[in-house]
Amino acid sequence: MVDKNGHIVIVGGGIIGCSTAYYLAKAGYSNVTVCEAVHIAHAASGRAGGFLARDWCDSSFTKDLARRSFQLHQDLSNTLEKDIGYRRLETLSMAVVDKKSGKNDCSKAPSWVDGNVQHCQKIGNTESTAQVTPKLLCEALIEEAKLSGVQVKTAEIVGMEISGKDVTALKVKDGSKIECSVVLLSMGPWTGQGLAWMQKPNNLVSGDRAHSILLQPDLSKSSIDNTALFLHYKPNYSGKSLEPEVYPRPDGTVYVCGQGDSEPLPTNPSDVKPDPKSCKTLFNIAAKVSQHLSEAELVAESACYLPCSKDNVPLIGKVPGYENVYIGTGHYCWGILQGPATGEALADFISSGKMPDILKDFDPSRLM
Ligand SMILES: Cc1cc2nc3c(=O)[nH]c(=O)nc-3n(C[C@H](O)[C@H](O)[C@H](O)COP(=O)(O)OP(=O)(O)OC[C@H]3O[C@@H](n4cnc5c(N)ncnc54)[C@H](O)[C@@H]3O)c2cc1C
Repeated sequence: MVDKNGHIVIVGGGIIGCSTAYYLAKAGYSNVTVCEAVHIAHAASGRAGGFLARDWCDSSFTKDLARRSFQLHQDLSNTLEKDIGYRRLETLSMAVVDKKSGKNDCSKAPSWVDGNVQHCQKIGNTESTAQVTPKLLCEALIEEAKLSGVQVKTAEIVGMEISGKDVTALKVKDGSKIECSVVLLSMGPWTGQGLAWMQKPNNLVSGDRAHSILLQPDLSKSSIDNTALFLHYKPNYSGKSLEPEVYPRPDGTVYVCGQGDSEPLPTNPSDVKPDPKSCKTLFNIAAKVSQHLSEAELVAESACYLPCSKDNVPLIGKVPGYENVYIGTGHYCWGILQGPATGEALADFISSGKMPDILKDFDPSRLM
């Protein structure tokens, strides 16, 4: 439990840091600083797809978190001042082939999906699937939190000052210090670095790289609707199936992601770079699906790291052995979906000192 005047420092300005800052501000905590090494939503939270599903996590520990967050996204789209690119989606899965053969069973596909696709299946509808533009969401959450006094500081945190069971200050790379009453480590795949400052194993959190591209189709020629595509493509040169996802956005751009690899996480978040070959593969597959995409302008190529915990279950809660340190990470491919509910629950935990029920399966003490 923290005094309303106590200084809460959030390390990392991704979806988890931004959501927690927002819900702390809503609960009346204004002495909050978000320390971000690069800029808000610099990493995965600004580069993710933003696909949201109400019940796709139902068979995992994150069922309640995902369902609560699906609702919160809808609420945020109504209450945040800024547009966050939220809308409900139709969602299809389909196979992409080099040459169409036999009957095309894709009558359910919208007209812009006019390429080499087969075996179309509806896997979500406007009741169960939605999207948000992750960067817009993070920025809108922080803008609103700032109105209540929350501050954002560009600062790479490199260590901690510890007294007994409390972290008393954070060390910044430029040599300065930030005094704190409570700390939240929400550094995504880099959260292991923060754990190491407290003599915890730094291999409890890691990152898997994935790629994305952003396309701008010619809007005068195409009308691309709110249908997300989950693709399966087996190139004839390799036995491995590629599974890109295509998300048309309300602003007329089309986001395509996939192409994971084992490139190690760089120590510094600003050193993440995409592999141009992986981005080209994403473009080539998208081009097979739709002529509109094949003729689209390539606006951006990107890579980011999915944050992963050692047991593949998010780590959300109090760091054992410390009175005033919390962590929130490990949401892997569902961090945008589950971010708002994670932030809401962490804000509740920090302000009340009591672990909310929704976090019971994510207690970090299971691994440290
Ligand atoms: C290609 C791709 C597509 C995805 N699509 C979806 C999707 O459609 N739906 C979905 O729900 N999820 C999706 N995800 C997953 C989602 O993006 C992540 O789970 C989520 O963004 C993680 O958020 P985070 O706040 O934990 O971490 P991050 O977004 O990684 O943020 C951590 C922040 O901490 C900062 N930081 C690190 N170290 C320090 C330090 N020492 N000092 C200060 N700051 C520091 C970093 O700069 C970074 O900004 C996708 C991920 C990828 C890679």
